[in-house]
Amino acid sequence: MDATLPAVAEELLNEISSAFKETSQIPDELLLALKFVFGSSAVQALDLVDQRSVTRVLSPSGRVVYQVVGSSGKLYTCFNSCHYCSCPAFAFSVLRKSDTLLCKHLLAVYLSQAMGMSQELNVSDKQMTSILLMDEDRER
Ligand SMILES: [Zn+2]
Repeated sequence: MDATLPAVAEELLNEISSAFKETSQIPDELLLALKFVFGSSAVQALDLVDQRSVTRVLSPSGRVVYQVVGSSGKLYTCFNSCHYCSCPAFAFSVLRKSDTLLCKHLLAVYLSQAMGMSQELNVSDKQMTSILLMDEDRER
């Protein structure tokens, strides 16, 4: 799924993906494993997926980014291709301190992929460019 995640995390997401395809839910033992690997982010990320807060944004040129509405209602942009989220927690805990693998938004992106539960939004290449430039005042 993503080369920047440790193998154990990737394997866990794959198991969740196949379990979810069969039963439309995540078995308890995989939920426990998820909490073990990702800590408190796991529960928050599952909430985000449940609330359909993850949107997969596609442009005609084939670029894909994810937008996640955080618990405060703020919109964050996540790139699963390079394992990046625009939120402060990612900048602080992941990039600067390296004490966590990812933030709840990126985990929500990976989980929504595994569970096939993201919304889809098609935008023009111009709109995609402003998303990539993190233009806060862009038109919606
Ligand atoms: Zn984030």
